[in-house]
Amino acid sequence: MRSYTLIAPAKINLYLEIIGDRPDGYHELAMILQSIDLADKIDVRSISVDTIRVHCNHPQVPTDKSNLAYRAAELMATQFPEAFSKYGGVEITINKHIPVAAGLAGGSTDAAAVLVGIDLLWKLGLTQSELEELGATLGSDVPFCVAGGTAIATGRGEQLSPLPVLDHIYVVLAKYRSLEVSTAWAYKTYRQQFSNSYIRDTESLTARANAVHSGEIVKAILDKNSTKIAQKLHNDLEHVVLPAYLQVLQLREVFGTQEGVLGTMMSGSGPTVFALVESEQQAQAVKLNLRKAIPDEDLELFVTRMTTHGIQVTSSV
Ligand code: ATP
Repeated sequence: MRSYTLIAPAKINLYLEIIGDRPDGYHELAMILQSIDLADKIDVRSISVDTIRVHCNHPQVPTDKSNLAYRAAELMATQFPEAFSKYGGVEITINKHIPVAAGLAGGSTDAAAVLVGIDLLWKLGLTQSELEELGATLGSDVPFCVAGGTAIATGRGEQLSPLPVLDHIYVVLAKYRSLEVSTAWAYKTYRQQFSNSYIRDTESLTARANAVHSGEIVKAILDKNSTKIAQKLHNDLEHVVLPAYLQVLQLREVFGTQEGVLGTMMSGSGPTVFALVESEQQAQAVKLNLRKAIPDEDLELFVTRMTTHGIQVTSSV
């Protein structure tokens, strides 16, 4: 039976702007997404029984149909029934390294890896844009997780425009293990508090989303100017998450005072906070100082680096 091992990187949001409501109930967003080298390892294997099985080493991650990786396999089975009956079922083993419910797209990147893995297992020969299109039906972040690198994401977050990739900036991540923020809660609360400032007419909505392409942070990315990128970090969801989760606010404040930190921001709907740093040495020093400032066992810290790739295949048997 054939199998593939895939690396599924997490993402951070360098920019997240909520522009308005969409007719489908989602928000119209303008984001800049960045892959980082903190990644899950996914094994995708053909099995002789016609079923989908998921295993995961993390107790908080479900292994039933509520797992996004399971749903990705189910989607492939529905879309390609002939291949499913020809090659049999799929066993997915998720080795979790990305913190769960953290704003780092852990579930989305696992789903992206399963789409890529099954495409290979079943010799479907799908293009990247076909895989991204399938991914968009599973979740807004899945297309970016397939592609990876650095990209502008508009619409629900599924419409991607690649940017020149960044890989020279180090990223220190901080997350309280026991703290989770529901993405649905964050967006719902934002709507309750700020919907009176939403752009209403469709033309202005699209114009605002397009304006991100010529925004200051995009210019800084084109120039690969780490200092300017860090100065232009932005996340509208901080307006609702920071007042409600004082531990996240504290992380933002403590990161902000550390020597060597170019800029700091919450990723996605949180609660992970990240800091951008110029070198690995500085990143390790920032991690150490943050640990001293907040000596709480519940606080998890990671030193990672921006990366240029999405899902990668590391081995096939
Ligand atoms: P995003 O940044 O896309 O909003 P997130 O990083 O905040 O995502 P996830 O780690 O994807 O959040 O987890 C959100 C919820 O989804 C978890 O509470 C978990 O129960 C569920 N889940 C389903 N499948 C997975 C998976 N493969 N990995 C992690 N969580 C999963």
